[in-house]
Amino acid sequence: MSARPKIAFFDFTSCEGCQLTVIDSLQNHPELLEVVEIVQFREAMSEKGQDYAIAFVEGSCSRASDEARLIAIREQADLVVALGACAHLGGVNAIRNSQELSDVRKYVYQDKAEWYETYPARPISAVVDVDFAIPGCPIDRDEFIRVVRQLLQGRTPQLPEYPVCVECKLKENVCLFLRGKTCLGPITRAGCDAICPSFGSACEGCRGLIPQPNIPSLKEVLKEHGLSMEETSAMMTLFLTYQMMDHEVVDDAGI
Ligand code: SF4
Ligand code: SF4
Ligand code: SF4
Repeated sequence: MSARPKIAFFDFTSCEGCQLTVIDSLQNHPELLEVVEIVQFREAMSEKGQDYAIAFVEGSCSRASDEARLIAIREQADLVVALGACAHLGGVNAIRNSQELSDVRKYVYQDKAEWYETYPARPISAVVDVDFAIPGCPIDRDEFIRVVRQLLQGRTPQLPEYPVCVECKLKENVCLFLRGKTCLGPITRAGCDAICPSFGSACEGCRGLIPQPNIPSLKEVLKEHGLSMEETSAMMTLFLTYQMMDHEVVDDAGI
């Protein structure tokens, strides 16, 4: 029997882009395949081994039947790792949480709404204990490799607790606010090397909030830079709806 740690990948409500990123990462780091045994990975293989020690879970929990499956994964695995913003934060799926579920069901499924089971989307940590989360939409390829190596070494991976702005400044980018644009970098957890602002696009918060984000202050800055309450709400709820609601920072901007 193989002594290599057995790992498995699972998908819940998601676009499966994080699993694609895993495949991409492993193509560039085939040495990792020498030290682990992948027993289940629907996007890459047809075997469905049930004997695994580390479970990587992509996707949010968005229906009651997801819960039993998540609990079964938790019972089997020594380590459960949330893979990407959907699993870590509820992700884009949680946008609907701030709207009437019946309206959302009708909008998406029209006259077939009764056919589909659904409820407000949640991160997997709302259902089971999670040992670690790899943030991002999608995850960062290098961060995935680093986290896997550290888990295999028995170490606890650490995420930056500072905002994207720190990495952005280290790259000597001109701040988007000085270029007539807006950005969520000041409240978003770093670790992506500020990839979006480095290419002129706003950080949209896909890696989640830093500890103790100053959200009221950022809202003031966004307002000063011309964003309406509706635009601010749309920006802050793309990835952060669940965290915002969890942090009870709901205010008159509708977040
Ligand atoms: S985090 Fe983004 S890339 Fe990953 S599964 Fe969710 S939507 Fe897709
Ligand atoms: S562009 Fe965004 S991430 Fe970069 S410094 Fe400005 S606010 Fe921060
Ligand atoms: S800059 Fe922001 S939106 Fe872009 S990858 Fe980093 S955390 Fe995600």
